Amino acid sequence: MTADQGYAYSKIYGGLEARGIDPVIPAKKEPIRSRVPLRRFRYDARHDILKCPMRRILRSQRRIEHGRYFYSRATDCRRCPIRGDCLSKGRVNKAVVVSDHHPALLRARRCKERWSREDARLYQRHRWRSEGFHGEAKSWHGLARAVRRGLQTMRIQAFLTAAAVNLKRLAAALLALLGPWRGISLLAALAHLLAATVAASIQTTRPELADRPA
Ligand code: SF4
Repeated sequence: MTADQGYAYSKIYGGLEARGIDPVIPAKKEPIRSRVPLRRFRYDARHDILKCPMRRILRSQRRIEHGRYFYSRATDCRRCPIRGDCLSKGRVNKAVVVSDHHPALLRARRCKERWSREDARLYQRHRWRSEGFHGEAKSWHGLARAVRRGLQTMRIQAFLTAAAVNLKRLAAALLALLGPWRGISLLAALAHLLAATVAASIQTTRPELADRPA
């Protein structure tokens, strides 16, 4: 499966791994907000602990919606030479949030560093083949917003949008094929029928866009 960096989140990597799907999604580098960033804390999945740059252990103590807080011991941090850079103002120990699928994100980052030529080719293909269509579907056919709630209705909206885009292309190809013979009644009628179907699909997916130019 290919996708752009907008989907490069631990939750998505974890979900794909659980389904046995190999993603070609370029993992983002960790944003550096601190002089001692999260990547300097090593997660040990076997023992379910974090190790800080000074090799002190942080343990999981509190659960939040998408992960857990890991805390160091105040006694470990008290004499640490880098505590000024590592700890937030007023804190006596370190608190780090690790998301539930953090190991999957780390694997994806390592995998990105070893992308093969085939991976790079697949991602390049994704960019011209999928992103252009997504942009068209979102900008002109309302796919940027769900018209109704729920996965099933969203699925219907996506199918109708894809049908509208395909029919639009088919109508354009037919008209180009007709060229100077556009006056021939049967083919012209067919083209009109296709155009009407496109308009109906657009009306269904996003009524307010129905009057925009194709
Ligand atoms: S301040 Fe605490 S958590 Fe941070 S590096 Fe030092 S010992 Fe480790």
